[in-house]
Amino acid sequence: MRFSGLRVLKEGLTGNKGWQAHWRDATPKPEYDVIIIGGGGHGLSTAYYLAKRHGITNVAVLEKGYLGGGNVGRNTTIVRANYFLPGNSEFYSHSLKLWEGLEEDLNYNVMHSQRGQIVLFHSDGQRDAIARRGNAMINRGDDAELLSVAQLKRMVPYLDYEQARFPIHGGLLQRRAGTARHDAVAWGYARGASDRGVDLIQNCEVTGIDIENGRVRGVQTTRGAIRAKKLAIVVAGRSSQVAAMAGMRLPIESHVLQAFVTEGLKPCIDHVISFGMGHFYISQSDKGGLVFGGDLDMYASYAARGNLPIVEHVMEAGMTLMPMIGNARVLRSWGGIMDMSPDGSPIIDHSGIEGLYLNCGWCYGGFKAVPGSGDAMAHLIATDRPHPAATGFRLDRFRTGRGLMDEEGTGAQHNLH
Ligand SMILES: Cc1cc2nc3c(=O)[nH]c(=O)nc-3n(C[C@H](O)[C@H](O)[C@H](O)COP(=O)(O)OP(=O)(O)OC[C@H]3O[C@@H](n4cnc5c(N)ncnc54)[C@H](O)[C@@H]3O)c2cc1C
Repeated sequence: MRFSGLRVLKEGLTGNKGWQAHWRDATPKPEYDVIIIGGGGHGLSTAYYLAKRHGITNVAVLEKGYLGGGNVGRNTTIVRANYFLPGNSEFYSHSLKLWEGLEEDLNYNVMHSQRGQIVLFHSDGQRDAIARRGNAMINRGDDAELLSVAQLKRMVPYLDYEQARFPIHGGLLQRRAGTARHDAVAWGYARGASDRGVDLIQNCEVTGIDIENGRVRGVQTTRGAIRAKKLAIVVAGRSSQVAAMAGMRLPIESHVLQAFVTEGLKPCIDHVISFGMGHFYISQSDKGGLVFGGDLDMYASYAARGNLPIVEHVMEAGMTLMPMIGNARVLRSWGGIMDMSPDGSPIIDHSGIEGLYLNCGWCYGGFKAVPGSGDAMAHLIATDRPHPAATGFRLDRFRTGRGLMDEEGTGAQHNLH
């Protein structure tokens, strides 16, 4: 079933009777070439690129809940490529390029909106660091513009430029950054993978990993045992728990990150804005809600809901930056479980156990990585070699200390990333 304007018109005029389910609800087979644990953005995109780029279609995605019910449907949808350090920068640049062709590729409207992201800076020191980041982005071939206060006032007049505590000195704009509809991304990849023969199996929790003589043989699940030649753990916030089933201890801590949305308002914020002095960022959804978030809850937890001190902290930051937000009523808030790595950068690697692959450590920035991560993970599983854009995401950097990619300079402290 292909989507097109003509199709929408035809269905609209004929009672919408011709639409079909977006993916098959598969029953598990006894054996697969590849099993992917986790039906989030990264698991589904891995399945899609395995089928599309490598012709590997005897694949199952096992999801303990429903597709898109994890972080891929809980994030604040920011897509950008403004990383500084080699290792990260080429990967996110590659991912953004995939985003730019994604809707045509999937034949699915993921509402990718390149409305631009502005990162504000508030001191001379921050300006120098931001300018350096912008130069690195340009040298890599991506776009970046340093904005003066006068330019900012024209583009985003609603910020509080007069406040004494954190005066705004300027901003870094990436015009190609923006947002996308998060659950549509999961549905689009699910549909594309299912159309190519991948089995998507929901309500199927992996409860054990079978390993014989140092080699993966399959998994135990709530729907029975399933054999696999290759197995990929792609479960974001649950990475440590699932890897423990294979006897592994990962350098990952799970922390809660909260997000908030207000009642629907008329269009007033037409970029993504990131406050440089507090962890606060905001955009406006196509339905009109102001979508914003802030810091981690700052202690390890598997609860997908947040606590009040961070709610207060985020609201304070919002009021400091744009007092007009005080007129809006918050409608909902929620939390997601973040797989925090010590250097704030991800892992896409072989586990050291034959046939077992890892994809985790996305911290609070893995939504923008969904296309790039799926592409790189599929490449690794199919060829047993890292994808050229993801050569830095090795697991052993946490053992050797070599190759760490510490974007924020916070050191090996999960709770500060
Ligand atoms: C509030 C919030 C805001 C965020 N904002 C942004 C943002 O603006 N931009 C950005 O780039 N990133 C953002 N992120 C981060 C991003 O959402 C995550 O990094 C990314 O979604 C994680 O990868 P995923 O989509 O594969 O995870 P998930 O969707 O969580 O997928 C993992 C899946 O594994 C399943 N699973 C777990 N254990 C098992 C098991 N034993 N058996 C079977 N299945 C299992 C889970 O049910 C889940 O569906 C945000 C996250 C949150 C919570």
